[in-house]
Amino acid sequence: MQRFQYYIDGEFLDGEARFQSIDPATGDVWAEMPEARDADVDRAVDAAEKALYEGPWAKMTATQRGKLLYRLADLVAANARKLAELETRDTGKIIRETSAQIAYVADYYRYYAGIADKIEGSYLPIDKPDMDVWLRREPVGVVAMVVPWNSQLFLSAVKIGPALAAGCTMVVKASEDGPGPLLEFARLVHEAGFPAGVINIITGFGPSCGAVLGRHPKVAHIAFTGGPGTARHVIRNSAENLASTSLELGGKSPFIVFADADLESAANAQVAGIFAATGQSCVAGSRLIVEASVKDAFLSILKRKAEAIRIGSPLDMATEVGPLATKRQQDHVTALLEKSIASGARLITGGQKPDGVGYYFPPTILDCDGVNSPSLAEEFFGPVLSVVSFESEAEALRLANDTRYGLASGVFTQNLTRAHRLMKGIRAGVVWVNTYRAVSPIAPFGGFGLSGHGREGGLAAALDYTRTKTIWLRTSDDPIPDPFVMR
Ligand code: NAD
Repeated sequence: MQRFQYYIDGEFLDGEARFQSIDPATGDVWAEMPEARDADVDRAVDAAEKALYEGPWAKMTATQRGKLLYRLADLVAANARKLAELETRDTGKIIRETSAQIAYVADYYRYYAGIADKIEGSYLPIDKPDMDVWLRREPVGVVAMVVPWNSQLFLSAVKIGPALAAGCTMVVKASEDGPGPLLEFARLVHEAGFPAGVINIITGFGPSCGAVLGRHPKVAHIAFTGGPGTARHVIRNSAENLASTSLELGGKSPFIVFADADLESAANAQVAGIFAATGQSCVAGSRLIVEASVKDAFLSILKRKAEAIRIGSPLDMATEVGPLATKRQQDHVTALLEKSIASGARLITGGQKPDGVGYYFPPTILDCDGVNSPSLAEEFFGPVLSVVSFESEAEALRLANDTRYGLASGVFTQNLTRAHRLMKGIRAGVVWVNTYRAVSPIAPFGGFGLSGHGREGGLAAALDYTRTKTIWLRTSDDPIPDPFVMR
């Protein structure tokens, strides 16, 4: 069995306790993980604070910080295969997806490496004589980063990259489900030569590790990705230390198809939009909103494509859909599907949890027209697509916005003016037109409403890890007069 350690203050440690990690493709234990509780969380945060104010990191120029980030990016690229295999093994995300995603993670680090020495302060044209006033941009402080199991290397890169560019130090908490790849990534951090304490990587459970970290008095900012329910705990915890928060949460993203769209192309995007990562994706296009006149034609293409998907071992390059990450996730998908069918939703394909080992669930499509199905409102975080149809553009927009989430959305149409109206009208942080699921380090990403607040990606994300300090300098050599002597 493989044993992992976590990384605190430049050292690899076994942790206060240990727990077992399960291979979702077989249901067997395959690795042992270190579990951080209060004492190790304290140690990690203390190390991060010391590195922020006293260590060599504090004295480095922004350009030197950028060079370290470039080195880390190169190491991620060179080790992408190994990291991808680990992520696949520990979370069940298929190797095709982890390989491509981790190769791209290196580009996120490169992007923020370049930004490190482009974060500038400013000089203010102040309204007083003999006074110079500047704004300095300084690192916000020690950052707590908490991520869920899916795509941990990616979800942490979009936090670690900008935070390092800004000069912060950090404690990253990997999910208790599949922490292996992030703990392995710590070895690359070490090899890249970051000073001890700058990046600490631990794992543990929500209440005994994540919550302890989030409310720690030395934490200045919490960058969280996960579900909205957990995010409420994160905010409550931040009431203790008054840390700022950025929250990347779930979604129930609309995927709108108009009759004039290229249906074959839209169907390919929809299949990737909902079945990639076995649906365990915050941007999953899980609500198909299709024009009534092409509903049957579009669903028959989708059904054919869904039924042709190769389900299998996530480590096999030919596999297109692997298992869900945990038994808990498989049970959740099964229960929400049963509830939706009981409400009147009709199964078009899939729906049957297969016999045998592993937490598999087949690509599933539900016709929800005329039904108040819970599948239209609640996040499966699994491979289940809910379908409704519309007669007019206004109805399509109303259905798209009929959600408390607001993360992503897709619009498929050849009509340019309609596309413009919808991109303005849809209430979501990302609108993809005639495409879906495109991301880039250069493009900000984040949600509205229950999908959270704050943006990851882009220059502004690095500025979010800074705070300004206002400096006043009196330039006159005249003595300051005694304020209590009347003149
Ligand atoms: P989760 O909210 O259960 O857990 C996320 C992390 O929070 C884990 O590391 C967990 O240990 C930690 N945690 C749990 N309780 C905590 C507490 N009280 N205080 C602090 N930390 C705590 O999420 P999950 O079920 O692992 O992941 C699925 C969710 O993540 C979905 O809702 C999905 O949409 C969302 N997600 C969002 C994005 C995005 O970028 N918007 C990306 C991926 C996943």
